[in-house]
Amino acid sequence: MSHTAELIAVGTELLLGNIANTDAQMLSQGLSALGINVYYHTVVGDNPERLRAAVETAKTRADIILTTGGLGPTCDDLTKNVLAACFGKKLVFHEPSAQRIEAYFRNLHPDRPMTENNYQQAMLPEGCTVLENDWGTAPGVAFEADGVRVIMLPGPPRECKAMFTHRVAPYLKKLSDGVIASHTLKLFGIGESAMEAQLRDKMNAMTNPTLAPYAKEGECELRITAKADTEGAALALIDPVEAELKAHFGPLVYGVDVPNLERVVLDGLKAKGLTLGTAESCTGGLVAKRFTDLPGASAAFRGGVVSYATEVKHTVLGVDQALLDQYGAVSEPVARAMAEGARRVLCCDLAISTTGVAGPDPDERGNPVGLVFIALAAPEGTWVRQVHLSMGRQRIRHIAASHGFDLARRYLNGLELK
Ligand code: ATP
Ligand code: MG
Repeated sequence: MSHTAELIAVGTELLLGNIANTDAQMLSQGLSALGINVYYHTVVGDNPERLRAAVETAKTRADIILTTGGLGPTCDDLTKNVLAACFGKKLVFHEPSAQRIEAYFRNLHPDRPMTENNYQQAMLPEGCTVLENDWGTAPGVAFEADGVRVIMLPGPPRECKAMFTHRVAPYLKKLSDGVIASHTLKLFGIGESAMEAQLRDKMNAMTNPTLAPYAKEGECELRITAKADTEGAALALIDPVEAELKAHFGPLVYGVDVPNLERVVLDGLKAKGLTLGTAESCTGGLVAKRFTDLPGASAAFRGGVVSYATEVKHTVLGVDQALLDQYGAVSEPVARAMAEGARRVLCCDLAISTTGVAGPDPDERGNPVGLVFIALAAPEGTWVRQVHLSMGRQRIRHIAASHGFDLARRYLNGLELK
């Protein structure tokens, strides 16, 4: 049987826009990976009547209700009281939770006595399953009543995520009559609409596995999800579809179940014992930033030059002044010379360069916003890609940096460089 979940986030600060509902995003991702359909997200303030109304509505349309927030010791933390009342349950004192809370508090503040209101957190609905919280004080709660499973999790995202992963997911997995497995293909160099147009008929015809496209920041993802009795059987359903998609999209697929392009580049560099450097103009250090965000980047990264001013391209990277005068800083020959200069001054095997117009205004030579040249210099030669990007400065910079990584991973994997 398939399950339907509704998330109810409790917190006035969410309604005021002070914080984003990141718990809902995390939980939705986790639930869909378990094959549980999430049909509604509700956000409600710290108000008992409105929370009660939200729960009554959720009861009519979901068989799993997950709440976040409002489990803490302060008086606006009302989730447990309201949920218990909605399902006709009393709150009872749970001694083991009280002891855990005391121990956690003592550990954190050895010099401060624990205040009485912290014991509030040990008042739990009678007969519930206690989800022990090893990452904070408030225990989570799960119970079944009126044909609905109710799960309450603390609001702080770090606690909420750990509780979901280690307590809730194992609990929900038992409800599922089978195993869900998924693989995600990552693509760079094709738009979501082009990808969807090529796959629409296929996607509509598929039931197990299913195929779902996602687009973000100039990249596309294709998630293949299968359900079967065992993980092996689910993966066996995925395999042929994955092989077919890889063959269809060819070098546009940069990886399966990999976090991002830069990770693929780092792994490729490490496998070959090569180093990387950067010479960045319009991306202002973003290529280096994204690369060094990866733990272990030091194994391959030599350094980067942010040559924003034209003069720095000449003085630091050694770009020929004549090239700069003749073609301007945003040009194919300058991108090429920047990457080659970076290889020289940084003593690296590969160098990525970027030069372009991130906007909001065209440059002094009239080059349009979004025109970017990205180059990769390697011992065998230098390749330059020219792109026209749109939709704002941050996006232009991000995608330009991605093109740099894309060139590098194509080089490292022996793929066509264009
Ligand atoms: P505490 O014990 O810290 O009081 P709690 O379970 O009572 O935890 P809240 O008081 O509702 O949770 O929220 C604690 C903090 O967690 C909030 O200040 C907010 O920063 C964060 N938070 C709460 N709900 C969410 C959410 N849905 N998404 C992201 N962050 C959240
Ligand atoms: Mg609180």
